[in-house]
Amino acid sequence: MKTLINGKYYEKNERIDIVNPFNGQVVDDVPKCNKTDVKVAIKSAKNSQKILNNWSAYKVSNGLYSAYEDLKREKKKIAKTITEETGKPIKDSIMEMERSIETLKLSAEEGKRIYGETIPLDAGLGGKGFFAFTQKLPLGVVVGITPFNYPVNLAIHKIAPAIAAKNATILKPSIKAPISAIRLCEIIDNYFPDGVVNTVTGYGDEVGDELILNPDVNKITFTGSVPVGIMIKSRAGMKRVSLELGGNDPLIILKDTDIKKAVKGAILGSYLYSGQICMGVKRIIVDNEIADDFLDLFVKETKKLKIGDPMDMNTVIGPLIDEVAAEVVERSVNNAIQSGATLVYGGRRDGNFFQPTILDDINEDMDVVINETFGPVSPIIRVNGVDEAIKIANNTEFGLQSGVFTENIHDGLRCANEIEAGSVFINKQSTFRTDNMPFGGFKLSGVGKEGVKYAVEDMVKTKLIGFNLR
Ligand code: NAP
Repeated sequence: MKTLINGKYYEKNERIDIVNPFNGQVVDDVPKCNKTDVKVAIKSAKNSQKILNNWSAYKVSNGLYSAYEDLKREKKKIAKTITEETGKPIKDSIMEMERSIETLKLSAEEGKRIYGETIPLDAGLGGKGFFAFTQKLPLGVVVGITPFNYPVNLAIHKIAPAIAAKNATILKPSIKAPISAIRLCEIIDNYFPDGVVNTVTGYGDEVGDELILNPDVNKITFTGSVPVGIMIKSRAGMKRVSLELGGNDPLIILKDTDIKKAVKGAILGSYLYSGQICMGVKRIIVDNEIADDFLDLFVKETKKLKIGDPMDMNTVIGPLIDEVAAEVVERSVNNAIQSGATLVYGGRRDGNFFQPTILDDINEDMDVVINETFGPVSPIIRVNGVDEAIKIANNTEFGLQSGVFTENIHDGLRCANEIEAGSVFINKQSTFRTDNMPFGGFKLSGVGKEGVKYAVEDMVKTKLIGFNLR
């Protein structure tokens, strides 16, 4: 695979192998870009920005619509690539593609809705006799940096809104899973001037500096871990920065819950892509009155999950991205058990596979609920009533999404009002997301929002034009 700079395939002798986490086979290799290559990409983006500025919104929107039609045709092929490079179960890769296609369409639509407003200057002191309006102008070069876990959907959430707002883009996909994202960029590139869509492949710590520090970059939109996000924000100077970072999302299950519904939510929330998802359910907080019944059914349903080849449509649990990631999960589970947690189910690692794991008798001091556990682990925290549940839900540095199961409207509303997170879903787990909703966390989970319209808001600059009519 080649990387894409200035509308052309960009070759390098130095290559990085991309390995299938399931079978260890090399899926493909990509150029190992360095600082000089990043400079070429930034220059090409900057040059193309001037051309894109002169395109009408109509033309930009049509370009995105055409790419959308192509992406629909490529859905199955790219879904297969996602599974090959990430180990994600194929049915989830297909879902990722469906959401990405939708996100591209939303961006084509949004491209026609970017405009300013008239401003009543005469409502301000000294403004009598003035007429003023604002324009929403392209911000400039937008850099997107993305993680391994949703390589297409997270990339499209950056590139497509940026182009809808007439910005040129550079994508630095995770080196663990860059191929599907490059394919996506190729499709969009076909409909835009050379240099509007660029990709740089390479290790983050090698290409990162230039992307973060180069003065010709106007915005960095990052999705990934907290330490890298904080580092980027602290060094980006006057550039706009948005950060979609980690999560430690709670699932609260109150005593009057429909247990079957709650178990379904817990299964979907805990085990989607083997728990390697920012908005995955990371803590299950359940009322003591129903905890035993919930646990019985949760264990029964967990035992049914098919573990194995991610290319099999029935597989729910595939491998983790690599063995190091699986070892981190193993350590966290073992620490919890040594500190008094009860292993109810699972707990074993085999290479980079980790069994779906349920831990009971968890207390709030255990690493497994303090840190973001990126694996299929369900720690159960038992509580007495809604007050304690909310207190524990908020006892975290993160605040991405959250879910509450209850049939009591008063308790539901209390949770909605008091949980400190970017989204609170009543009777749904935190893994729920539509691509038009404002998405982004509080606290260490991030800064800014994605969801096409909301991403665009931070990819434009507002100019005011006033006329003195006196
Ligand atoms: P990561 O290690 O932070 O990597 C994310 C991206 O940052 C990769 O492209 C990585 O490059 C790059 N990077 C690393 N060091 C860099 C540097 N010095 N300068 C510039 N870029 C650098 O995260 P990950 O392990 O791939 O993904 C898991 C994390 O992402 C979890 O914490 C998860 O919660 C979070 N996440 C958040 C959301 C959200 O929407 N809030 C969504 C998905 C995932 P390499 O290619 O070298 O790795």
